[in-house]
Amino acid sequence: MPIRVLPEHVASQIAAGEVVERPSSVVKELVENSIDAGARDVQVEARAGGKRFIRVADDGCGVPPAEAELAFYHHSTSKLATADDLAHIITLGFRGEALASIAAVSRVTFVTRAADEPVGTLLRLDGGQVVARQESGRPPGTAVTVEDLFFNVPARRKFLRAEQTERRHVDAWLTRYALAYPAVRFTLVHDGRTTFQSPGSDRLRDVLIAVYGLEAGAAALDILPGDQPPTSDLQLPTSSIQVTGFVSPPSMHRANRGFITLFVNGRWVQDARLAYAVTQAYHTLLPAGRYPLAVVMVRLPPEDLDVNVHPAKAEVRFRDADVVFRAVQKAVRRTLLERSPVPVAARPGGAWPVLAAQWGEEHHERLAHLRLQPAGEQLRLDVESLDVVAPERASEPGRLPLLRVVGQLSATYIVAEGPVGLYLIDQHAAHERVLFERLLAERERAAVVSQVLLAPQPVELAPESASLLEEYGEALSSLGFHLEPFGGATMLVRAVPAIVAQVDPRQVLEDVAAALEAGDVPLGGRVEEAVARQVCKQAAVKAGQVLSQAEMEDLLRALEQSASPRTCPHGRPTMIHLSVEQLAREFGRI
Ligand code: ADP
Ligand code: MG
Repeated sequence: MPIRVLPEHVASQIAAGEVVERPSSVVKELVENSIDAGARDVQVEARAGGKRFIRVADDGCGVPPAEAELAFYHHSTSKLATADDLAHIITLGFRGEALASIAAVSRVTFVTRAADEPVGTLLRLDGGQVVARQESGRPPGTAVTVEDLFFNVPARRKFLRAEQTERRHVDAWLTRYALAYPAVRFTLVHDGRTTFQSPGSDRLRDVLIAVYGLEAGAAALDILPGDQPPTSDLQLPTSSIQVTGFVSPPSMHRANRGFITLFVNGRWVQDARLAYAVTQAYHTLLPAGRYPLAVVMVRLPPEDLDVNVHPAKAEVRFRDADVVFRAVQKAVRRTLLERSPVPVAARPGGAWPVLAAQWGEEHHERLAHLRLQPAGEQLRLDVESLDVVAPERASEPGRLPLLRVVGQLSATYIVAEGPVGLYLIDQHAAHERVLFERLLAERERAAVVSQVLLAPQPVELAPESASLLEEYGEALSSLGFHLEPFGGATMLVRAVPAIVAQVDPRQVLEDVAAALEAGDVPLGGRVEEAVARQVCKQAAVKAGQVLSQAEMEDLLRALEQSASPRTCPHGRPTMIHLSVEQLAREFGRI
């Protein structure tokens, strides 16, 4: 083919692909515009997960009649004038691409009125072409309605997921912005039902409660102001970094990193290093494999930050990433140490047993190295002493002592004896734990063993389930699944992880899909772990299964090797430990 310049509408559709991936991208861009317009009230309405209908209405500054069409041109923006301005961006938008891109792949109705105009403008666009324009009465502000997303891009439309999935993505974006802008009141309506509302009280804790519930919201710790106390947004001294927000106390934790939400200059970012800085601050304070809940806002002078990395990706580049990393870690750590009391119940034997039980026995030894200061009913960890905990020590997994099998109880529990007492082990939970760590380790080495089915088996699923399995295809194949779409909501199973070779493939798939559907992976958590948990649940020995002495011994040996032997992958205990002292106390010997 000869070289030629693409027709305008083709070029627009290609450009749109960069910005608009799915309904939630539209919500993100429109909400960002509302925030940039200074709105205090943003109402988002979606139908069919946003596939059919999205409306974002705000009470922001609006667009004057003379500029309404301009807003839909490519590279048209009111937020940037010169290339130099790129270095000092304080708005969420600046590319002038969103409205043009959204309009190119949908039917848009844009109703806007600038505060100082007597009347508003209504503009209708079809695939980017203006098809109607008229005056319109509405209160100052803007309402953008986006219908039939990708009606003219069948290839994209085909890649949209089930309504439920698209809806979750919309929810995720809206809660992020609600957290980042507590002064703005956000309302989300799905298919006519209000599903979320933030109060707009300008208090982050109120939003936390709206998003995560009263218990988590009330328990969260306010991040302590650092060396640089918060100032108003735009007057940050050069190379200063401000860290604010909330973190969970060590007593509250989650099974994945999905509850760590990070913002940089009001922009949600997905930054593995910053998330790591947060978890690092909890070093030794959380049981293995557990993660905090955190909402951390980083502010730094705009010139220390490059936000122009990718049109839609939640990515920024720092001039000095190390400095930001350390600032976050320090702020969170200091907050934990100064603000997080360790409650101690009054019990014979003093604080130690309770502390140890609460934080997991594996921390017992480490804690013994810390100086503990009694403070009324509470103990506070000394800041310096925690810093001396060497990382190697702290990362030492909490292995089990050697255990001797005494016998099996009710074909469900293994009775074992250790150096300091009796252990009652739930065989199913323990086996799940062992398989889970093994499977994830194999995945890490790309060494998961698959069992190819003699005859590929078609499994018909609910459309929801099928689309989720398709969406997470990569995670599934890294764990040993080989699935193919087989028309409609049917999946052709060619191979499964070898550890579930004995289980009905339909059962495995349904359970995995159910776990994914149940929102086991919110806000970007690890899909692989959610899948692995289900697989291992299927593969593990069941309660009621009689085990031979050798089988029980094998299981305990494997459990002793495990990094987190005391909980199953779902967070339930694998064992009950009765110490020699407890036994002596129960029998009235001491
Ligand atoms: P950008 O946000 O990068 O400037 P957009 O295409 O998203 O680009 O928007 C183009 C312009 O339209 C914005 O710069 C702004 O002037 C105007 N605009 C868009 N949405 C709104 C809104 N909700 N309220 C006021 N003005 C808006
Ligand atoms: Mg924008």
